[in-house]
Amino acid sequence: LLAAHGIRKSFGDHEVLRGVDLTVRRGRVVAVIGPSGSGKTTLLRSLNGLETPDGGRLDLDGGPALDFSRPVPKATRLALRDRSAMVFQHHNLFPHRTVLQNVTEGPVQVRRVPRRQADERALALLERVGLAEKRDAYPRELSGGQQQRVGIVRALALQPDLLLFDEPTSALDPELVGEVLTVMKELAEEGWTMVVVTHELQFAREVADEVLFMDRGVVVEQGPPRQVFTAPREERTKRFLHRIL
Ligand code: ATP
Repeated sequence: LLAAHGIRKSFGDHEVLRGVDLTVRRGRVVAVIGPSGSGKTTLLRSLNGLETPDGGRLDLDGGPALDFSRPVPKATRLALRDRSAMVFQHHNLFPHRTVLQNVTEGPVQVRRVPRRQADERALALLERVGLAEKRDAYPRELSGGQQQRVGIVRALALQPDLLLFDEPTSALDPELVGEVLTVMKELAEEGWTMVVVTHELQFAREVADEVLFMDRGVVVEQGPPRQVFTAPREERTKRFLHRIL
C-alpha cells in the first residue's frame, strides 16, 4: 500500500530522520518502536504529509508518488493526507463540540459527506467501540480511554486506507490502556492497514505483523515480532529491549 524510501528530515542542524525505508502492505500492522527522540513521530507525520521530508520518496498504491528531492506541489501533499488518518497521543478532540460533532467534522467539512450519512456512519462506529450513548457528551465528560476511543472513531470516519497511531496510549492512566489497545486489536483483525508507534511491546508482539526498531533516525532492524523480540540481530536492539523489558 505504501513504500517510503530514504526519508530524511532535519530540524535546523538536527538530522532527525537519516534515510528511512518502510513498506506497509495492505491489511498489515507495522509497529514502530525505539527510544525517545529516535524520530518515530517525525516518520509517522512524514507518512501523511503533516511533515515535509527534505529527501526521499513516498509511493502510495493508486495515489501520488512524492519525490521530496524536489518541491512537492501542495495538491499532491493534500492527496497524500487524504489517504490516511492519524490518532494522536493526546486525542486532540474539539473541547466545545460533542462526541458526535467531533466524529462528523472531518467527513462533513473536508470530505463533503452529507450530514445525515455522516451522522449514521459515526453512530455505527461509536456503537462498535461501545460509546453510542455518549454521542452528545463533551470530551471533558469522558474518561481518557473513552476520549481516545472517540479519537480512533474520528479517524475511522474518514474511511482512510491507512491508519496511523502515534503512541495512542502513552498519555493514559495504566488502567485505561487496555480498552484502547483492545479496539486497536479488533481493527487489526478486521484487516485495517496500520502503522503504530508504540511503547506497548506486548501489543506489538501480539498484534503487529512486522516490528521496526528505530534509533537515532535510522531503522536499525525490522522483521516479524518473534524475530525482533526474541532473536534480535543488532546489538542496539538487544540493548533497547533489555532496558525496557
Ligand atoms: P518520543 O518517543 O519521545 O515521542 P520520537 O522517537 O517520536 O520520540 P520524534 O518526536 O520524532 O521522536 O523527535 C525526534 C527529534 O526531533 C527530537 O529530538 C525532537 O526534539 C526533534 N523534533 C521533532 N519535531 C520537531 C520540530 N517541529 N522542531 C524541532 N525539533 C523537532
